This record gives sequence, C-alpha cells and structure tokens, in this order.
Amino acid sequence: MATQDQVREFLAHWFQLGKPVVLAEDRGECLPSPIYYKGGYSQSFENCWHQIMVTSGQGCYLQGTTQSIATMLTPAWDIAACARCEMPVAIPILGLNTCPCPCHDLHTWPNTEVPMPRPAVDEEQHLSDLQDRLEQVAEQPPLLPRCSYEAEDTNVFSSWRKMS
Ligand SMILES: [Zn+2]
Repeated sequence: MATQDQVREFLAHWFQLGKPVVLAEDRGECLPSPIYYKGGYSQSFENCWHQIMVTSGQGCYLQGTTQSIATMLTPAWDIAACARCEMPVAIPILGLNTCPCPCHDLHTWPNTEVPMPRPAVDEEQHLSDLQDRLEQVAEQPPLLPRCSYEAEDTNVFSSWRKMS
C-alpha cells in the first residue's frame, strides 16, 4: 500500500508541474508554493496536507485523477513510476490500471528538456528555474500527441514491473 510519505512525495512531484489538489467539501484547490523548504517540506505544503487530512483524504484528489487521496492510502493501491513519463502515479495492486497518469492532460509533458521534478532538496533556485523553463515551454505548441493509455502501454508496464 502507499504510505503517507509516498503520497506526500507523489503530490510534491505533481505540484512541481503545477497540478493542484482538489479539496473535499468544495474547499477549492490547493497548490503549495514553495513546495520545499530547507531540504524538507515547506509550511505551505504542510498546510495543504493538513487540509487534505481534515477528511483523511476522502474527497480530495490530484487534479486530473479519479482516485481520492484516501483511496491511495488503502492497501489496494500502490505508487509506481508512470510508463510514459516516469512520474509517480497511483496504481491499483490488483487488476488493470484504468486510471490514466495525471500527465495525460499536460500537453508539455513529458519533456526531456526540463529537469524531472525531484524529492526534497535544498535548492530553491532549481525550482524557480524549472518553473521559468516550464512557462517558456508552455508558450510553444505541444511537441507530442496527447497521452492515451492503451492496453499495449499497460502490458509493457506490467512486464517492466515484473523484471524489476
Ligand atoms: Zn505519465
């Protein structure tokens, strides 16, 4: 199952690409900034996590995904690397993954010209550079077609998981 630490890291990665969490009970969206502070999570991130935990993650989900944070914290779910973009994604342990990676609606992702989002490091400058570069990329037309999760992708991913 996904631990709270894994889910927090999952969120931190997607926050770096500008994807907010949608909070339960119509409390709006949450996109902490900065995400990290002095090699750990920022107060802004912790506040956001607290907002999520008000409902134990029920009804809260990363924008573009369908499973709630509460669902991700159940034993039936795990976090693995997306077959397309290597970002962390939530996957059901049993059965086929019918939930697309949150990258599916990011036209500028994956992009090999910008650094991958990363775990907490004490590099504020790196993050602002990344955001600047993503903004530049966003002004250009998309280089890649929209992500569509097809059965073939899932099979490749499954075999990759067995090998590793
Ligand atoms: Zn992806």
